[in-house]
Amino acid sequence: MSETFETHPLAPAWLAVPADPAELDPLVFTRQYTRDADGCVCVSGVPVTELARQHGTPSYVLDERTFRERARAFREAFEDALRPLGIEVAVYYASKALLTTAVVGWATEEGLNVDTASGGELAVALAAGVDPARIALHGNNKSAAELELALRVGVGRIVVDSLAEIELLSGLARDWGTRAPVMIRVTPGVHASTHEFIATAHEDQKFGLSLNPARDGEDSPALTAVAACLEASDALDLRGLHCHIGSQIFAAEGFGQAAERVLALREAVAARWDVVLPEVDLGGGHGVAYTAEDAPREVAAIAGDLAPLLAESLKASELPAPHLSFEPGRYIAGPSGCTVYTVGTVKTVTVAPGVQRRYISVDGGMSDNARPVLYDADYTAVLGNRVSHEAPVLSRVVGKHCESGDVVVKDVYLPGDVAAGDLLVVPVTGAYCWALSSNYNWLPRPGIVSVAPDGATREIVRRETVTDLLARDTGVVDPAGAITAHARPAS
Ligand SMILES: *Cc1c(COP(=O)(O)O)cnc(C)c1O
Repeated sequence: MSETFETHPLAPAWLAVPADPAELDPLVFTRQYTRDADGCVCVSGVPVTELARQHGTPSYVLDERTFRERARAFREAFEDALRPLGIEVAVYYASKALLTTAVVGWATEEGLNVDTASGGELAVALAAGVDPARIALHGNNKSAAELELALRVGVGRIVVDSLAEIELLSGLARDWGTRAPVMIRVTPGVHASTHEFIATAHEDQKFGLSLNPARDGEDSPALTAVAACLEASDALDLRGLHCHIGSQIFAAEGFGQAAERVLALREAVAARWDVVLPEVDLGGGHGVAYTAEDAPREVAAIAGDLAPLLAESLKASELPAPHLSFEPGRYIAGPSGCTVYTVGTVKTVTVAPGVQRRYISVDGGMSDNARPVLYDADYTAVLGNRVSHEAPVLSRVVGKHCESGDVVVKDVYLPGDVAAGDLLVVPVTGAYCWALSSNYNWLPRPGIVSVAPDGATREIVRRETVTDLLARDTGVVDPAGAITAHARPAS
């Protein structure tokens, strides 16, 4: 078909025909990936064929060294960039991106604290043995039970998100005879994603308390929240202000603008109440490359760009610099993971006269990666078990679910001879894939296999079984026996 390696008419403009379809683009196939002498893709030296043989497919494969390196690099980048300004930095791993006890252990060993956003996430962090003082609890609708758990174990910070929550939490803290360390989530009116950020007067969203008054002359909801926390100072220890401006951010300007506005509120609080809030959190959202279309900057460059913006905001202020914290999730977990699928049906459909698209079905789909459906997210893939010299063909990698939108990789050039039984490797699935996975169509959720720096592999979350699928259906008397009862006797 495309012997001439011409661009396919259905291909998006950013997608180049690969000169060598076996190449592992270092933008998305970060250092842990290589091809061995047989042409097989390896993760920290372990061939994906071996991983598939031992653990089955689909499997999430997580490279421990990459996760640790990215966690450490993030922390060091911001520490180094902001130390000259006298700003101390703490980094909280946003565990919602990918949360298992092993992963949380890596994050804390690399000097990070842990962000959680529900009682369940908090429970996993506690089960991992994280010092509660290093855990933060977020959420726009925390239940009394979640807040009580946080108070009981003594988490390091609770990020309050509404006036009602301030009241609920102060009541609970009094009941428990403790003083809750709190941050106030504010909406600085900055929305940032990829290369651009938009500064708007108001934010039409559920999170946080606005920096803008509802009417001229009134206090902003954020300032009102500060007043409420200070009034309840017997029960609440107001540590500072928190914001989170978006996701997949590739530049420092949005963070700089958010910081400027949050620091102005800190200034207003000092002026009115003579209280210097010691902490400011600028949230997460640091971007990663999913395809050749993305061009994220190194985190050190973002930290470097942020420093003068912060210096500018602080210069205007008489107050001592606050401690700053950041909450990366995707940046750390995303590039650390990939998904290995087995190819099943391959089908070529005619889209218009003479224009064809090849559909490659794999043994998972939207249940293990909901991001394409949810966010129209793009991914890429390579043939994992071998190298092929067949001409590349524009392909769409799809799942096995009963949805035509069940797409894993919208557009990718893959060798013309990809066939049933081949393995595909989809990189950068470490964040928000397993975390968002479901049992749609009753597919058992894949396990997570970690690869240690020495190449040792370990299932850190086991694959679900049919027994797991049946376990909570109260009509099933014997989940383990339900299938075997129908098994044909061995002949
Ligand atoms: C989701 C979230 C993060 C992490 O976002 P990433 O894009 O994964 O870095 C950090 N902080 C808060 C409050 C969040 O909701």
